[in-house]
Amino acid sequence: MLVIRGGRVFDAVARTAEPRDVLIDGDTIAELGPPGLAAPEGTQAIDAEGRILMPGLVNAHTHGHSNLHRSSGDRWTLEHLLNAGPLIRGDLSIEDRYLNTLIGAVEMVSKGCTACYDLFYEFPMPSAQGISAVARAYADVGMRAVIAPMMTDSTFYASVPGLLDAIPDELRGPWEAASKVRSIPWEACFDVIETAMREWNFDRDQIRLAVAPTIPLHCSDEYLQRTAAFARDWGCGFHTHLAESKVQAVAGVARYGRSLTAHLDALGVLGPNFTAAHCIWVDDDDLARLADNGCFVAHNPGSNMRLGTGLAAVRRMLDKGVAVGIGTDGRTCSDNQNMFEAMRLAAFTSRVQGPDFSRWLSADEVFEMASRGSARTLGLDGKIGAIAPGHKADIVFLDARNTNYVPLNDATNQIVFAEDATGVESVMIGGRLVFENRRFANIDTDSLGARAEAVVERVGRGNEAAKELALKLEAVVASFCGGLAKQPFHVHRYAGGDEG
Ligand SMILES: [Zn+2]
Repeated sequence: MLVIRGGRVFDAVARTAEPRDVLIDGDTIAELGPPGLAAPEGTQAIDAEGRILMPGLVNAHTHGHSNLHRSSGDRWTLEHLLNAGPLIRGDLSIEDRYLNTLIGAVEMVSKGCTACYDLFYEFPMPSAQGISAVARAYADVGMRAVIAPMMTDSTFYASVPGLLDAIPDELRGPWEAASKVRSIPWEACFDVIETAMREWNFDRDQIRLAVAPTIPLHCSDEYLQRTAAFARDWGCGFHTHLAESKVQAVAGVARYGRSLTAHLDALGVLGPNFTAAHCIWVDDDDLARLADNGCFVAHNPGSNMRLGTGLAAVRRMLDKGVAVGIGTDGRTCSDNQNMFEAMRLAAFTSRVQGPDFSRWLSADEVFEMASRGSARTLGLDGKIGAIAPGHKADIVFLDARNTNYVPLNDATNQIVFAEDATGVESVMIGGRLVFENRRFANIDTDSLGARAEAVVERVGRGNEAAKELALKLEAVVASFCGGLAKQPFHVHRYAGGDEG
């Protein structure tokens, strides 16, 4: 057994950080009590004097496959990013995929995040070795993760009605040659994931599998229903990007004659294992459908602003009874994996939407979303997201001497509004200090930069033709999708009035 002595345990709702000792049995918190808490003989003590103990943050939505291509592109919309897939993907080996995931996991843990929902992509389809490499990276860092291979049976270009026709003749041949995804027999994808499920040899409490059809518009109805049936059969999560951009919302109505959410509801895909990322361009009827089906939303305010997709109406989600978690999204659309920043932005983006401050997200609400709320999206409700008996010992040690806490006036406001991850000193996951005094126990972080740069250089050399094609197509996508985004729509999520 372990006992953490001398720390102050953070309570977001009470807005306090009171002196408490924490007794840990194996990977689980057994008891909390005042300083001097009794512990069985032989219990190892950890000194947390001068530290604030906070539950590990939970990242409800990220993409481990994009870590090596961090910060690609500047003024990219979501559609620019989807078009740039070949630019930022390349031909990665299994060990490259491991490194890709590892880098993100290292960043997350060092910034106080102990669990994530990772939607990773392996082109053109997931492989047993690829899935295993991703799981191994999280296991090696010691982080908790739900990993979901992203799958699709169509292409971005086919997903937006009219976009294919807008591709000029001279680019059509190269585009068709590059779009191998259309020829993937998707039953083969399910075979791979089913085998991985059956032969899973990672601790399921730490790393588990889920499924992630990328974006409903990129998938056939048959494929979505097959995925939902698979998730039900295996009792796993189902995570997709829903109504992230106005282009998607407008294209959804054009294609289905109803909203994307209404369409998924009619297909029978929604359910209590369903996590919808973003949900910006949804109306009250859509939110009611999500609430009625017990679905979750993963809110990614950093990505939403980086890609200019708009401001999600999170208070409206809560009003309708939808459970919300918070995510960073991937490094190609929000650049970092800092859940403190994601919390801060979640609070701030709620405040520029109207003058009624009672509808703004409060710091304690935001913290609850980034801990317990995100835990629910991962299917780990009651197991992570709180420092409480029966919960896993996923605990972040914040240095109370860091300037973020000098002076300590309101712990909740300071953790949500002032903390930028520089106060994170140590991180315990499942009772193990995987990050101690700002050093990883098992990972040689000093070599990561050189290893990553070598991969990026090698992959870039082999990717010239795909890059050239993507850059040529960019003008087509920008013009066509930009037009769709200017069409009238009954939901409004852009802010500021400077649309030009
Ligand atoms: Zn995403």
